[in-house]
Amino acid sequence: MRKPDSSAQVQRYRNFIGGEWVAPMTGTYAPNRNPADLNDILGEFAVSGRKDVEAAVAAAKAAFPAWSGTPGPARGRMLWRAVELFRSRLDDLARMLCREEGKTLVEAKGEIQKGIALFEFYSGEGFRTHGKTLPSELRSTFTYTLRQPLGVVALITPWNFPFAIPAWKSAPALITGNTVVMKPASGTPGTAMLMAEIFEEAGLPQGVFNLVTGPGGAVGNSLVDHPDVRAVSFTGSNAVGLALNERAARRGIRVTCEMGGKNPVVVLDDADLELATAGILQGAYGSTGQRCTATARVIVQRGVAPKLVEALTAGAKRLRVGNGLDPNVDMGPTIDEGQLNTDLEYIRIAQEEGATLVAGGKQLTGGAHDKGFFVEPTLFTGVKPGMRIHQEEVFGPVVGVVEVGDFEEALAIANAVDFGLASSLYTRDVNVAMRFVERAEAGMVHVNNPTVGGEAQLPFGGWKGTGVGEREMAEEGAEFFTQLKTVFVDYTGQARAAKIY
Ligand code: NAP
Repeated sequence: MRKPDSSAQVQRYRNFIGGEWVAPMTGTYAPNRNPADLNDILGEFAVSGRKDVEAAVAAAKAAFPAWSGTPGPARGRMLWRAVELFRSRLDDLARMLCREEGKTLVEAKGEIQKGIALFEFYSGEGFRTHGKTLPSELRSTFTYTLRQPLGVVALITPWNFPFAIPAWKSAPALITGNTVVMKPASGTPGTAMLMAEIFEEAGLPQGVFNLVTGPGGAVGNSLVDHPDVRAVSFTGSNAVGLALNERAARRGIRVTCEMGGKNPVVVLDDADLELATAGILQGAYGSTGQRCTATARVIVQRGVAPKLVEALTAGAKRLRVGNGLDPNVDMGPTIDEGQLNTDLEYIRIAQEEGATLVAGGKQLTGGAHDKGFFVEPTLFTGVKPGMRIHQEEVFGPVVGVVEVGDFEEALAIANAVDFGLASSLYTRDVNVAMRFVERAEAGMVHVNNPTVGGEAQLPFGGWKGTGVGEREMAEEGAEFFTQLKTVFVDYTGQARAAKIY
């Protein structure tokens, strides 16, 4: 189990390397604070460097032969043991997540449950990792494919889903026989620490899962550059992801980058407006809008625009913003001061561009709000497709409404951004819905459903500027962590001079 360092004022969290809790070779730790209450310190976390990454990769490399040689179902049973422990510690995990990321306790519990479902799904995949049997062109020749693990893989995760994203990367990596070095975001290392503790308790062999905390530049780059790392699975911003993709390409290793979004909801004149309002409010302001799948653009047909805007404005103004630990709070803080300033800067830009502010728009201050980083749920109308507020990811509770004449115009505007993660349509017309499904430029399409959400058994990820590489979650998520081997077995017992028809 994790050993607290008694010399520290607050609990110190070390790295988890080779089955041990190891102090960083840099000797440095940094405190992590609750963004809703800066007096609430979650602990001090290792600020690791290249040497710590080297130790973690060496441990993972040493563990690979035995782990990859363990039968898939046996690996699955170990993950299932972790599932049971995750369930028994759901409240601890959710509290840590709520305190370090800021989302409400209800949202945090939902995220932990989603992560547990991913482990449940992938535990069973231990029985199902399969290749194909195909006929050979030649007589008495058996040809088939095998899926085998890659080796040591690096997982680099963002702060906004500190349990679900580590789950959707580590579960498929481990079940397919890889060994892992994970670097969580510096804003949210605590939930990942609890995950490592549970893996240890579940009996995962030493070195199979390693966790190194520290800055992206030092730890992340050292992982990507390490000659023994065979693949990198990254989720985060476009700026970091694209640079990382380029860096990994120089080594010719496998990479997946799931990056930003600017997700639209289209509302047509025939839509159920109550349903659309509820879906937009949930998608836009849930998790403080800090979701890659957050609703950032509402594209509404003119006939229902006034009614929809009225309902959204009232809904945004009703939301209670505060510390996510308080059961009366609907929306938590932004993750840090940097993100708060980004939100406020985009609110300023939108007004400068000529959009009309109809709800929110300000930092919340006074009383308990002075302890953290809070912004009002914000809504703009009069947004035009060329505006920056319509094109660029804010990653906060800021939504812009664009009015359109018909479905074709709405679809064209929905598609005309660099991103392509999630796209949603509210209508009662099934024919129009199917046309939208066919033509939306997005990895995930929703009908009469918010832009947010994903399920363990369904592929998750985006088109265009959102994604590089394979889909995550589901069977496809496990494929990323395996390589194919094609096998030819000749059972004629005779030399064949030339393999011709
Ligand atoms: P970020 O700043 O790009 O960071 C993501 C991870 O990369 C963190 O662990 C970060 O470490 C690390 N990192 C930073 N610089 C690095 C470098 N030079 N080399 C290697 N790693 C480096 O993103 P974020 O602010 O945490 O997350 C928000 C973004 O994630 C948004 O754009 C959101 O849309 C996207 N996201 C996408 C999905 C999806 O599935 N498409 C899901 C969730 C979030 P530090 O924390 O130490 O800087």
